[in-house]
Amino acid sequence: MDYTAKLDEAIQRLHDEGRYRTFIDIERKRGQFPHATWTRPDGTEQPVTVWCGNDYLGMGQNPVVLAAMKEAVDATGAGSGGTRNISGTTVYHKRLEAELADLHGKEGALVFSSAYIANDATLSTLPTLFPGLIIYSDELNHASMIEGIRRNGGSKRIFRHNDLDHLRELLAADDPEAPKLIAFESVYSMDGDFGPIKELCDLAEEFNALTYLDEVHAVGMYGPRGGGVAERDGLMGRIDIINGTLGKAFGVFGGYIAASAKMCDAVRSYAPGFIFTTSIPPAVAAGAAASIAFLKGEGGVTLREQHQTQAKILKTRLKGLGLPITDNGSHIVPLIVGDPKHTKLMSDMMLEHYGIYVQPVNFPTVPRGTERLRFTPSPVHGPNEMDHLIKALDALWSHCALNRAEMAG
Ligand SMILES: *Cc1c(COP(=O)(O)O)cnc(C)c1O
Repeated sequence: MDYTAKLDEAIQRLHDEGRYRTFIDIERKRGQFPHATWTRPDGTEQPVTVWCGNDYLGMGQNPVVLAAMKEAVDATGAGSGGTRNISGTTVYHKRLEAELADLHGKEGALVFSSAYIANDATLSTLPTLFPGLIIYSDELNHASMIEGIRRNGGSKRIFRHNDLDHLRELLAADDPEAPKLIAFESVYSMDGDFGPIKELCDLAEEFNALTYLDEVHAVGMYGPRGGGVAERDGLMGRIDIINGTLGKAFGVFGGYIAASAKMCDAVRSYAPGFIFTTSIPPAVAAGAAASIAFLKGEGGVTLREQHQTQAKILKTRLKGLGLPITDNGSHIVPLIVGDPKHTKLMSDMMLEHYGIYVQPVNFPTVPRGTERLRFTPSPVHGPNEMDHLIKALDALWSHCALNRAEMAG
């Protein structure tokens, strides 16, 4: 067996399909977000502006968050020193979980190593708690949900994206007595569109199903206290399990679920992905708790308003140039280039010639023919950064001879 040849084959397959990923090596500058330094493969450096980050509100450089992290490091050291079960549950973890439970109006919360792990561990454990469980999953759900559902040994049904009629058909076709769960997202990150949360909850109620909502791209950013779209729409009480990340708008690291005390107790007790792994460092927990608390208050309200304003400005200006963006009313701004070659070329030229970093998004992350650049404007992107981006896109769109939309009259 030639193992090396097998590795070469596997990697070559990705090259052949145009799916081989190259990472851009950057170092963000605290106090100067979204500015960063890019280190090229040859070791030379260039200043860049990051336009595709998920630190949506710039909380990764917020002084309140940094102070909490430094204080915790000084007080308690680097790591947690154990799993949650064996010496790794600290006052910082308990505080963070209380902060999260309060954020979502739930009795409890469980912190995981990431939202990926939270989705995977929870969804793969639920059939153990509810034997015979059928999970109804939106076709555009995140890879972490798909993975958890795929290997949980239970039954699954995939409904067409946001298609309530299709979901109803699937629910109606199954045994009314079978335990059921509907899994979906509030903001889908590639198109920036919203899930019909209320209608999904109505269906869940009608068919006596549980609801599972991934609010990863909404927590911190929507709702009066940053509780997400379900908070904004007054629907948190109708969601059984809310999943969120501490790594995106909260600017730190980690993931969680918020749910009833009993649900948390059961998942805590049965999910290997919760128990058999070192708990997050106390300083990370402290930083995340400080970030959540900050965003619940006035400071959060201001940042959320600025965030939405920045997204509106960018969308308006791109539309003004006739560039084909998808506007689904959220903070995510996808610019559809439409083929992988030009998407990569645009991204490379933006970086090389304009110092603008936006990662190309290709198949299989998005359907073929909808390859795109996905911009994430934020309160730290000022007028200068915005002007520079608009000029670069205008010039490159012409350079690549890409189509513009009909100008609205
Ligand atoms: C990023 C993402 C996750 C995973 O969050 P992490 O905390 O980064 O692991 C889960 N769900 C969705 C929809 C995401 O975009």
